[in-house]
Amino acid sequence: MTHKTDLKNFNLEGLIGYVESLGQPAFRGRQIMAWLYRPGIENFDQMTDIAKKFREILKENAFISSFPPPLLERSSDGCVKFGFQLDDGPIIESVLIPEEDRNTLCLSSQVGCAMDCSFCLTGTMGFIRNLSPAEIVNQVCSVRDFLLKEPEDKLIGPREVTNLVFMGMGEPLNNLDNLLIALSILTEPKGLDLTGRKITVSTCGIAPKMRRLGENSTINLAISLHAVNDDTRNRLMPINRRYPLDVLLEACRTYPMPKRRRIMFEYILLQDINDSDDDARELARKLNNIPCKINILPYNESPGLPYKSPSPERVLSFQKILLDKHYSVFIRNSRGSDISAACGQLAGQKKLSQKLMIS
Ligand code: SF4
Repeated sequence: MTHKTDLKNFNLEGLIGYVESLGQPAFRGRQIMAWLYRPGIENFDQMTDIAKKFREILKENAFISSFPPPLLERSSDGCVKFGFQLDDGPIIESVLIPEEDRNTLCLSSQVGCAMDCSFCLTGTMGFIRNLSPAEIVNQVCSVRDFLLKEPEDKLIGPREVTNLVFMGMGEPLNNLDNLLIALSILTEPKGLDLTGRKITVSTCGIAPKMRRLGENSTINLAISLHAVNDDTRNRLMPINRRYPLDVLLEACRTYPMPKRRRIMFEYILLQDINDSDDDARELARKLNNIPCKINILPYNESPGLPYKSPSPERVLSFQKILLDKHYSVFIRNSRGSDISAACGQLAGQKKLSQKLMIS
């Protein structure tokens, strides 16, 4: 275990503070930030506008982390699941979802998850630890490097990561300090330079932490709702016992959102659990007065979990009721299910390592 400081754990402000602690002026921090996230930058000698003497000081005290080559699985629909082995052993997963005009990367924020949602395989792992800011942004750096090297005939979307969703392993708001630093690096023009409009953070409903997220970032907020009454939601998502629906929806109403944005409500449709027409009508009533969009996610059946996918007719009927109430409602059929990369399926560390395809 190194005692050196990983510079990727700092946002710009933190980096400036760090170089100042080494007796350097603030602009050195801005210079380093402009180097750290360029493809191919692995050591301080590549930072040619930094004085050699200071580069030596950096070498003694700091390092630039990166992930080793990932384990890869490719889905027949073009999705790619990446398994990144962390220094202390565990593997986290990220999923690239390519489309013609965009590449969305689904990121993990924790190893495992403590929230224990009953439809989610990640929840069955339990919580292992939080990811550091560097471990969050290195998922993006690695997939960016993968896309830069991807052969032309395999490329579906652009050669860059264009959109990020925090919907992989973990509950992002349970790792809020590190998440906010990572978001600051991801949206920093000298960092990874993504706009907050293209980043979505999804929470299962840690209501008291939502405001701090909104006040300190410009990202989009998604809420994993999945039920319209407390009884059902308590069964699906134990967090609801602490922050019941009324508390969660009030936090949504008062969420400090950038102008002209809407909250995305995610609703997994589980056969005979939450997919009735009455449920749809109640959902429309509950979301009244919240600027929002609704994603309906027909459930992906996973061995070992008791839930069933709804019929296509049920899904359409549920959607129609919401459309008739003038909501923007989208049916999102999860991609990557053949490699267990679809929503709620990220936990297959053993399976992933057995199915190594490329490194
Ligand atoms: S759905 Fe999200 S919050 Fe719930 S257990 Fe899975 S990873 Fe955790």
